[in-house]
Formats: sequence, structure tokens, C-alpha cells
Amino acid sequence: MTMNSKLMVGNWKMNGSLAANASLLSEVLSGMGGVTCRSAVCVPAAYLAPSQSLLAGSALALGAQDVSAHDAGAYTGEVSATMLRDFAVRYAIVGHSERRQYHGESDAVVASKVQRALAVGITPIVCVGESQSEREAGQTEAVVKRQLAAVIHANGHCVSEIVLAYEPVWAIGTGLTATPEQAQAVHAVLRVQLQAATAHADRVSILYGGSMNAANAASLLALPDVDGGLIGGASLKAPEFLAMLKAASR
Ligand code: PEP
Repeated sequence: MTMNSKLMVGNWKMNGSLAANASLLSEVLSGMGGVTCRSAVCVPAAYLAPSQSLLAGSALALGAQDVSAHDAGAYTGEVSATMLRDFAVRYAIVGHSERRQYHGESDAVVASKVQRALAVGITPIVCVGESQSEREAGQTEAVVKRQLAAVIHANGHCVSEIVLAYEPVWAIGTGLTATPEQAQAVHAVLRVQLQAATAHADRVSILYGGSMNAANAASLLALPDVDGGLIGGASLKAPEFLAMLKAASR
């Protein structure tokens, strides 16, 4: 368990509009009384600027959903870490399974993206997780360890500055959630791996992600090595997201 308060991060994915985001954020912000956990929302790149304005001065931090592995130049469509920094972005999701799966991001690319984010002071939220077939084949530990090892290899002891998210691919957007036992087992493995890489492993929050919702958040957040959540679908509904922020504030 880390010394920090829990960290709850919404991942809007490719959802929203100017109007919908404004109403979602205003509803969330107006319900944050009593929330003491750390919190953030990772918005589509197109909405960074308006979200920055809406979140200014609030306790809800701004995050991005990806970052380029490159500094600048001929990379059409990419957004660099320095650009994200211009909008006071605090966190960037890196290596989400949807990026690994649909955009062919390798462990090495993910590790470079982590480097770019850390270089400008943005905290990367590094996602690792096994597919259904990998779990069935008994490869869960090997897969998540390989994914984290690439990040450790490229970033050395700076890995103490990341946030890690265990997101079993079979649980993302499916309504299937890892059982508390399954989640704790993998989180413990990741914690040990971090401890071997840095003397400051206790600084790393390890989030659980995969169909976390208001009904199951408390039991997952009670686990010794679960330091928060990465929340997709349920972060698009203000009352549900707020209930989860409150569950993480106890
Ligand atoms: C995610 O996108 O990181 C995620 C965990 O999604 P969901 O909560 O919808 O499963």
C-alpha cells in the first residue's frame, strides 16, 4: 500500500462533445464536497483546452488519453508531451489496451511514451493487462511482468514517478470485473516487480481498471495493493463517478 491517498481517474475514451463535457464536468465538480481522494479525468485531445478552463482551480486534475513517443516533427496526427503540458495536463494514459490492440503499440513504443511524459513532468498512467486467452493459458503474470519490464528497462529508477494501472483486457468495457482475489494477486506481483526496480516503489499508485463501477468499487479499493481506479464507462455518468470518488475517500 502506498502512503498517498487513493487516485481515481476517469477515462472518457472517444466520447463527449463540447456541450456534454461542460454539463458532465459541472455536475461532477458541484458534487465533490467530501471527496478527499486524488482525482482526474482523461479527455479526448480535442477537448483539452475547454476542459482545462472548466477544471481550473478545482481538485479534479486534467489528463490525456495518449501521448506521442516523439518530441516534435513529421508525425501527422500525433500530440506531443510538450503540447499536453501547454494545457496543464497532469496525467497521460499510456499503453491502454485499446491503443496496444487497435494501434499496434508495442511494449517498446509504450516505454518511449512513458519517457516523453516523464521528461516534461506529466505522470504517465501505464496500463498493463492480459487478454482472456492469455489468462486461460496461465500467462497472466508473465504478460504483465513483460509489459512493466519494458517500462522499467527504458526508465530505470524514474519508474517511481509513474502510475500503474492493471487492466485485464477481458474486463474492459465488458461488464466483467476481476474478482478481488484476481486483482490483488496481480497487483501484488506488480508491486514486487516495482520494489526490485526502485527504492521508491511505495510512491507508485497501482490502479485497477476494468468495469469498475459504483457497486464494486469499495470491495476493490479495500484490497491492500489497490491504490485507486481507472474508470471508463462509469466515469461518463456524474452520479456514478461521484459515488466512486466518495468510495475512494473513506
Ligand atoms: C478503461 O477504459 O480503462 C476501462 C477500464 O473501461 P471500463 O471501465 O469501461 O471497463
